[in-house]
Amino acid sequence: MGKVIQVREVGDPVLEKVCDEVDINNINKDVLDTIEDLKVTLEYGTGLGIAAPQIAVNKRIIVVGAKKENINYNDAEEIPLTVMINPIWKKLSEETDIQYEGCMSVPSIRGRVERYKNIELTYYNEKGEKIIKEIHGFFARLVQHECDHLDGIVFLEKVKGPNGFATVKNIKKYNLRGRKEKNMELFYKVTDEDIGGKSVKMENPKLRHGARGIVIREDGKIAVFNKSNKNEFKLPGGGIEGEENPKEAFKREALEETGCEVEIIDTLGTIEEYKSKNNFKQISYVFVGKVIKDTKQLHVTKKEKDEGAKLLWETPEKALELVKGCYDKLVASKYASVYSTKFVVLRDRKILERYLNLK
Ligand code: ZN
Repeated sequence: MGKVIQVREVGDPVLEKVCDEVDINNINKDVLDTIEDLKVTLEYGTGLGIAAPQIAVNKRIIVVGAKKENINYNDAEEIPLTVMINPIWKKLSEETDIQYEGCMSVPSIRGRVERYKNIELTYYNEKGEKIIKEIHGFFARLVQHECDHLDGIVFLEKVKGPNGFATVKNIKKYNLRGRKEKNMELFYKVTDEDIGGKSVKMENPKLRHGARGIVIREDGKIAVFNKSNKNEFKLPGGGIEGEENPKEAFKREALEETGCEVEIIDTLGTIEEYKSKNNFKQISYVFVGKVIKDTKQLHVTKKEKDEGAKLLWETPEKALELVKGCYDKLVASKYASVYSTKFVVLRDRKILERYLNLK
């Protein structure tokens, strides 16, 4: 039975050394004891992998194992506890991704590191059997991180800026994993030129964050908000409030505006609006939420009631048709009062088009 060992923290010279290979023909008690200690130490903590130098043993041994409750990574799968002796890897493609990493040797701090997504891994198990396998995504990232330890490298040296570091607390507070993820990429910028005008220079624009998108029922119909007096159509969504993260804001908006509790099933990215005449910029995080419960309780304001607000359920194609028709009429209008509305409707049109394109 192994014992829990105090994990060495960054700055400790033991983490800076290149480790020695293990003699595979002589997996002796020393090696097996180290393996047991690594297993117990990993299981005791909340880490997902550990390398021998982290418990001050200068040998090329790593142990990985990710339990569901400990995984904070996007698209991560559960990984059974696995011992790898003399692990080596090679990339199978040039494809990489960037995600926050943490390390038991670096308390509280996380950093964004670029890793290969597809690798071929070769190692020996405790019985000295050679194992070769292809691994991908989160598992591949984990192995690359642990193998770096065997060469005296801690992930901090590989963090990509700008703003590559964050505390664990702030990652949660600002939903940094979600915001900086690849699938949160910007897919459209709505500008004055788009609505037939001309942008003026913005200075320190007022910035607002929003969360919006598609709320879809089991029958495939999606929620569209209609202000019938103005013949205006929009998708559910609104501003992110206080300490909310974008996903929480989207769920709240969906509940308020459609009366439905939703579960987020997809992420479409971000869309930005530059209303230069108002010196106003809005970044919206766009999601797809599946209705899990319809409470039939809408929170419509007095103003919205006066505007003849009603909730419609339409197929996505029909919704796009309505939004497009509304937009064409708005663009033809010369009234300055519809300036903002043009942005809103074009934004929602772009969201619907993206949704239909990705579907
Ligand atoms: Zn580490």
